Amino acid sequence: MQLPREVLIGKEVAPHVGESLTRLGFSGTTLIVTGPKVRSIAAEIVVRSLENAGFKSSIVITENATTNEVSAIQREIRDRNVEIVIGVGGGKDIDVAKLSSMNELKTFLSVPTAASHDGIASPLVSMKGLDRPYSYVAHSPLAIIADTSIIAKSPYRLIASGCGDVLAKYTAVRDWKLAHRIKGEYYGDYAAELALMSSRLVIKNANAIRTMSDSGVRTLVEALISCGVAMSIAGTSRPCSGSEHLFSHALATIAPKPALHGEMCGVGTILSAYLHGGNWELIRDVLARIGAPTTAKELSVSAEQVLEALTRAHSIRPERYTILGESGLTREAALRVASITGVIE
Ligand SMILES: [Zn+2]
Repeated sequence: MQLPREVLIGKEVAPHVGESLTRLGFSGTTLIVTGPKVRSIAAEIVVRSLENAGFKSSIVITENATTNEVSAIQREIRDRNVEIVIGVGGGKDIDVAKLSSMNELKTFLSVPTAASHDGIASPLVSMKGLDRPYSYVAHSPLAIIADTSIIAKSPYRLIASGCGDVLAKYTAVRDWKLAHRIKGEYYGDYAAELALMSSRLVIKNANAIRTMSDSGVRTLVEALISCGVAMSIAGTSRPCSGSEHLFSHALATIAPKPALHGEMCGVGTILSAYLHGGNWELIRDVLARIGAPTTAKELSVSAEQVLEALTRAHSIRPERYTILGESGLTREAALRVASITGVIE
């Protein structure tokens, strides 16, 4: 079990990254991995904080989050004798920092500037150029510093997407339980309950999130971080990723311009909740209240692409047993679930 040692969530916490590292007993050279847009919004605040605390630091900008970029950053880590790699930005910047630091056996810190999915706090990584279209376990951040004053300024669409990724735990845990019963797979109650609690809290606070109130944004960030911790406790993405994620990954490979990860997972959760005999109407209504997509049209994909993703989802990751079964949904079954839930017209 690898868990973060320090988690700071709140307004104006980004200027405390340096103090946090000192408190944790670290010294040495730091490297900040960030994107071009967030550089001035957040990365420079982090650099000042590190310099004030006596750390040497430099910034590298990532553009696309590919394995080539990870290799380039690994060279930087070696050339500059970096000890601590800090990902500052959205999921992509954090994933590049996570993977490059793991490959070089260096400490990793996460400073998310958006709350669009649970990768900001999880030990998982996914990226173009890797041999699979889904996430796998890398390593956990030593600390997470989530500045809600920065996150609250991100586009609302990212917040809504983050809610979709948290609601996904409603079906991910059901799939995990099913795999435990049918396949004898390891199942951890504690990790499962932690993931479910996050989805319950997002459901309960949907209105506060919709208005972007301080408490709403904070609830979402805490939920995403708890999901990351749930995966760290389980040592697998199981508590957070089931059939709804398989649907999302399948759709991402089919649609020429896929929607955001959490948006597709949200719609996947409606579909999977129906298959599980769960309260899919609740999931749909909460997503709609939050302002996240609930239909193919809102995901900007065709009905045909949804049906294809539904019939193909089980093959994305054959070892991950879910409600989709080993042979997947037939086209008729896919058509039925997508029509009844109103995902397609
Ligand atoms: Zn996810």
